[in-house]
Amino acid sequence: MHELAIAQALAELAEGEAVRLGATSVLHLRVKVGALRQIEPEMLKDAFDMARAGRLAHSDLEVSLTLPIVRCLHCGAEERLDTFDTRCRACGSTDADVSGGDELELTSMEFESDASPAPGPLDPSGGAGLADRRRDERAAGAQADPSAAGDPGYGIAH
Ligand SMILES: [Zn+2]
Repeated sequence: MHELAIAQALAELAEGEAVRLGATSVLHLRVKVGALRQIEPEMLKDAFDMARAGRLAHSDLEVSLTLPIVRCLHCGAEERLDTFDTRCRACGSTDADVSGGDELELTSMEFESDASPAPGPLDPSGGAGLADRRRDERAAGAQADPSAAGDPGYGIAH
């Protein structure tokens, strides 16, 4: 099962991040998955429920799909692709570059640690108290795909 392999890879990646950040228990994970990976977010969540363990035993997963971007080499039009038709909608040319859409990325985690037992949910409009934590979490926005640009330390075999 495709989703299970990816869920296990994500669980491993998140566990590594949890250790690095000193988390004792991860509450919530957000991941970005490219639409080209053809993953059902609901199936990935179910698979994650089976794969999670250790620090992730009580975490839930939030999946957002990202669509690839098509750039027309003929007229330069750019748009997010929501079909598998890579023809340019502006001029009809099939001469197009497709980029993105194959991401597999851990974008943020909410967690408990010994230092701060119960951090609240991450609120983008939140107060200054969250600023440091947000910086940490951005640093944890690990690239899970060795083919994507990013820290090669986070590669996942799949
Ligand atoms: Zn075009």
